[in-house]
Amino acid sequence: MNETDNNNSDIMNEETGNTNGGDEGGSGYEQVCSMCHRPESKCGKVMKLPGGLNICTDCMQKSFDAFNQPGGLDINSLTRIPIARIDLNQLGQGMAPQQGVKKKKPEEKKKEESFSFSDVPRPHKIKAMLDEYVVGQEKAKKILSVAVYNHYKRVFSDTKDGVEIEKSNVMLIGTTGSGKTYLVKTLARLLKVPLAIADATSLTEAGYIGDDIESVLSKLLMAADNDVDRAEHGIVFIDEIDKIAKKQNTTSRDVSGEAVQQELLKMLEGSRIEVPVGSTTKNPMVPTATVDTKNILFICGGAFPELEEIIRNRLKGTNSIGFASELGEASKSADQILQQVTMDDLRKFGMIPEFIGRLPVIATLETLTVEYLVRILKEPKNAILRQYQKLMAMDDVSLEFEDEALELIAEKAMKKETGARALRSILEEYMLDIMYEIPRDNAIGKVVITRDYLEGKGGPRIILRGMDQLPG
Ligand code: ADP
Repeated sequence: MNETDNNNSDIMNEETGNTNGGDEGGSGYEQVCSMCHRPESKCGKVMKLPGGLNICTDCMQKSFDAFNQPGGLDINSLTRIPIARIDLNQLGQGMAPQQGVKKKKPEEKKKEESFSFSDVPRPHKIKAMLDEYVVGQEKAKKILSVAVYNHYKRVFSDTKDGVEIEKSNVMLIGTTGSGKTYLVKTLARLLKVPLAIADATSLTEAGYIGDDIESVLSKLLMAADNDVDRAEHGIVFIDEIDKIAKKQNTTSRDVSGEAVQQELLKMLEGSRIEVPVGSTTKNPMVPTATVDTKNILFICGGAFPELEEIIRNRLKGTNSIGFASELGEASKSADQILQQVTMDDLRKFGMIPEFIGRLPVIATLETLTVEYLVRILKEPKNAILRQYQKLMAMDDVSLEFEDEALELIAEKAMKKETGARALRSILEEYMLDIMYEIPRDNAIGKVVITRDYLEGKGGPRIILRGMDQLPG
């Protein structure tokens, strides 16, 4: 096959020969059987057929068996019936290019060549790095930093002494837009590990309409450039996990709730899972790879809307000697209450005990307030305001916002009830005219966005170059 025809020519390369995992050319990719789609490490040596087709001995045998079965194809009859000549070269050209499966590196090489423990910063460093991007959420950042550090300690520890550190997958609880995804994304970026983000609402039990559990790992494999080794040290974030709570009083099969929790279980606790490569759905034309999830860090996130009430009810309950306990609880804020969440509360919410058991670390995010949103607008390293300031600086114009103007933007965002997510779209709307008009006039050196301007009571404060204030 012409190499330019196929960006995955590693697998198809006829000149590499094909022994020892099909990697004599040192491409790092394994050959894959064109019929069963297993890589050579699983199906054994494959034979190369013309047209870039590979076939493993199992499939070859199965084909022969099919010919020889009683009632199967009578080989003698082939001489009597005219059959079209099949040109395997053409067949190969018509086929979708096969996706390669990056070969696993040998065990001992793995630790030095890929991700190693020395790449993992200490918890205080992880937290300091997160601080640059994520405003507030002190407790959650601390819990995550320690959980991640311990997770990779576990990955790189040996078990010769019989002590095996248990997996510390994390549960993040916080309302929508409180920064759960952002925290995890920032973490993965700082650690330089692949990250897959999945939505639990799209997952269904295998065989039903929706995504299978394996699709989550396919995304991770894609994020790791099909490198199984890298994927096996990655992070998977499953959002909206509260949406797969056990359905109450349902008579039909709970294919998107409890059943999904059951299926996620095996992935969370660590098992070897057959994953389609280059696609999120299983399909006979798609090759698969085996991904071991034992060293993948799973972080689940959800808003858990009625959880606060469940906790309050528990705290309101009577204590062992029959008195109503903790009278002060009623006056506590939602955040303070949520901080006291237990596994039992989550079970009452509808999460199955085995599932929560696999997520032993629980971090609760604080609810965003106006002050918080103002800080989010201006403090992070890549804060939205900084981004606009950078854009304007390219026109040699400096951009400032009055504190009252930022508060107005934050108040508007609060009303939308989508947390910090609303900030950008609100600001975008206000900034349109500024970004359009200011570059018109070279004399403008500075623009100050005032609350009055945002409220439509006046224009922004414009300062001309070489002047400190607007003339007059
Ligand atoms: P969630 O996953 O909880 O629904 P997101 O992580 O998608 O929320 O948050 C939406 C956006 O809000 C993020 O992309 C980020 O820009 C911003 N954001 C939220 N919380 C913070 C924070 N504490 N610091 C900085 N930015 C934040």
